[in-house]
Amino acid sequence: MVSILDKRHRPLRDLRISVTDRCNFRCTYCMPAEIFGPDYPFLNKEELLSFEEIERLATLFAKDLGVVKLRITGGEPLMRKDLPILIEKLAKIPGIEDIAMTTNGTLLPLYADKLKKAGLHRVTISLDSLNPERFKQMNGRHISIQKVFDGIKAAKKAGLAIKINMVVQKGVNDQDILPMAAYFKKEGHILRFIEFMDVGNTNKWNLEHVMTKKEIIDLIDSKNPIKPEPPRYAGEVANRFFYEDGSGEIGIISSVSDAFCGSCNRARLSARGELFTCLFASSGFDLKRIIRTTENDEDITRILKELWSNRHDQYSTEREQKKDQKKVEMSYIGG
Ligand code: SAM
Ligand code: SF4
Ligand code: SF4
Repeated sequence: MVSILDKRHRPLRDLRISVTDRCNFRCTYCMPAEIFGPDYPFLNKEELLSFEEIERLATLFAKDLGVVKLRITGGEPLMRKDLPILIEKLAKIPGIEDIAMTTNGTLLPLYADKLKKAGLHRVTISLDSLNPERFKQMNGRHISIQKVFDGIKAAKKAGLAIKINMVVQKGVNDQDILPMAAYFKKEGHILRFIEFMDVGNTNKWNLEHVMTKKEIIDLIDSKNPIKPEPPRYAGEVANRFFYEDGSGEIGIISSVSDAFCGSCNRARLSARGELFTCLFASSGFDLKRIIRTTENDEDITRILKELWSNRHDQYSTEREQKKDQKKVEMSYIGG
């Protein structure tokens, strides 16, 4: 397998592709409604990478940079028209072993079957509370939790593997940790708790609202003992834990309290076609301009290799010193 190493000796393995900056939710920690209102200048069609452009870039990333995993994200990826057509193209790329999607789940009843047939392997469905009222508040659009349950059901029926993501904010939804853990243990889906992160510039992040990995572990362990499990592969983002009674697994993504930059093998392609080598970067490299003006794939590969080999990002490790820097909004590059 090709391994291009960055300045901190990390290979690239995982490419996250944001296919739209639009979303049907307005989660308070990601796209607060007061900022992403009716007049917000979302990207128009010409500004987005086309499916052919995404396919071309993903093919080069797989062939020449060692990417084996793709994750489709957004905004809400299922807001992008004809998404199964893109999945079908990506599934045919030699070297790609795994295609996943992160979604709020509400549109899965319409698309789960088509996505599975097109070659999608897995979905990660975001759900922050089982409390119907709190869920409505947190999604910023008063959307019913039943829509997410219907999405989970549709994904299961279609045969997609499912994980659930819960962003935990102290004082907002920390009381939902135990009910969520109990529910998804029973349902047999892996639940992953994500520490509230200081992504973008608009989500009013505050360290006091971060429920740390340790706090989450202690809480769950006090009800249902858990034990740590080693990662399945290098660069796995979540710390894994098994219930001691053998009834399932949870994961914790601790970007704030226990940074994992040392093994970060991920790059992100934004909806408007820029390459970001860190979730918290201030700016990306305009690959759209390059692919729209360059016919020769070898020239593009040379640029991609240069970008990765010059990378030295480790924002989470340096958060204290860097926390005031301007950052790209989450809705442009996905999680
Ligand atoms: N709309 C899709 C969804 O919500 O799953 C995909 C895009 S969303 C930006 C990707 C993931 O990032 C979601 O699981 C979401 O909960 C997470 N996320 C967004 N803002 C976050 C924040 N401030 N801290 C931690 N996770 C966040
Ligand atoms: Fe939309 Fe996902 Fe962001 Fe929520 S987290 S606003 S669903 S993009
Ligand atoms: Fe990777 Fe940047 Fe996150 Fe560190 S902060 S794990 S470098 S994306």
